[in-house]
Amino acid sequence: MVDRVRRTISRYNLLKYDDKILVAISGGKDSLSLLKILERIERDFPHSRLYAVMIDEGIGGYRAGCVAVAERFCSALGVPFTSLSFKNLFGFTLSEVVKSGVLEDLGLTPCTVCGIFRRKALTIAARRLGATVIATAHTLDDVVQTYLLNLLKGEVNMKPVGLRRENGQAIPRVAPLRLTPQREIALYAYLENIPFQTTTCPYTHTSMRDRVRSFMAWYAANKPEALFSFLKNFERLLEKAGQRVESRCEICGEPSSRKICRACEIELLIKDRLRR
Ligand SMILES: [Zn+2]
Repeated sequence: MVDRVRRTISRYNLLKYDDKILVAISGGKDSLSLLKILERIERDFPHSRLYAVMIDEGIGGYRAGCVAVAERFCSALGVPFTSLSFKNLFGFTLSEVVKSGVLEDLGLTPCTVCGIFRRKALTIAARRLGATVIATAHTLDDVVQTYLLNLLKGEVNMKPVGLRRENGQAIPRVAPLRLTPQREIALYAYLENIPFQTTTCPYTHTSMRDRVRSFMAWYAANKPEALFSFLKNFERLLEKAGQRVESRCEICGEPSSRKICRACEIELLIKDRLRR
């Protein structure tokens, strides 16, 4: 597994020898496995640094136990661990947002909002730590799911997922597991005794991603290479389509194709509704 991830990193030039790498820890087996694999790989690069960061979205009863588990796991690996919460960063928890009824008004699911703020929170954490790159544990299955979801939504400004793109100010995000199928990470986690969370997020059933996941399981059932060839061919298309020049968000200054990025836009709307 370590060799496979090492090959993925060099094939796509995901990491540099002196990177300060923020590894996004969800508490699940994928991200702890990624941390363990990267810790092994980066031992050969003495100028690199690893940081583990967990974002607490504030879903009552869901996050509590896994912060401690992740913290213990990181300290055993000798990787500094930080936990940041939506509450501290933005002033509200995901549960508060859901309970307020704001999401129905905005036409958004908890998962969409959680994903947008999680992304923003990781960027903030990376800036604070001086990280040069953010590594997420998206597997081959996750990357393909994201492409399919974006296609279904008719997203026109699609970007490659988990490939290093340097566009000036943004902190690049990479997915070193992008060529590793989900089931292989599950097997690795099992063999390596990686602790994992047994409770699933209470909002996960609301997600369109779940339906796409079921479709993919059906589609790739007798054809394990199907996802890999989709990824390869689809990214060739994306490359041909080229990339647009991005402007910056007027509020947070991060790159965005809009005047105000989606995270800041939704944050303002939520705060406005919660104030009433
Ligand atoms: Zn913004």
